[in-house]
Amino acid sequence: MSTNAPECGWDQAVFRCGRCGAQNTATTEADYLKAIDTHSDAHAVWDRLNPIERDGITSILRTILSAPELALELLALADRQSARGQGRQAAPPTGRTPTATQATAAPSITIRLDF
Ligand SMILES: [Zn+2]
Repeated sequence: MSTNAPECGWDQAVFRCGRCGAQNTATTEADYLKAIDTHSDAHAVWDRLNPIERDGITSILRTILSAPELALELLALADRQSARGQGRQAAPPTGRTPTATQATAAPSITIRLDF
């Protein structure tokens, strides 16, 4: 039995999408699986959008990703507008868990007094 036999395994794996040709190289199995999941999710979202929505989200993402602090300020602005009743009563801001009152279908009125 030789002690010079190569170790089994791999040092990197290449993911290539059959739909769009995107290519990603991962050095761990976890990163490889994450790359596949993320890319599949991106296709799922993209497939649901019409051409106008695709242009819109692409423009928004380019703006936000070029200035992450802008995204935080926009979310803070949206929260302030919602608190003043100027925002829509749509979905809560991303990354937040809806409160019990927001999760119910019953309408609610929030009155905020600033002193
Ligand atoms: Zn793809």
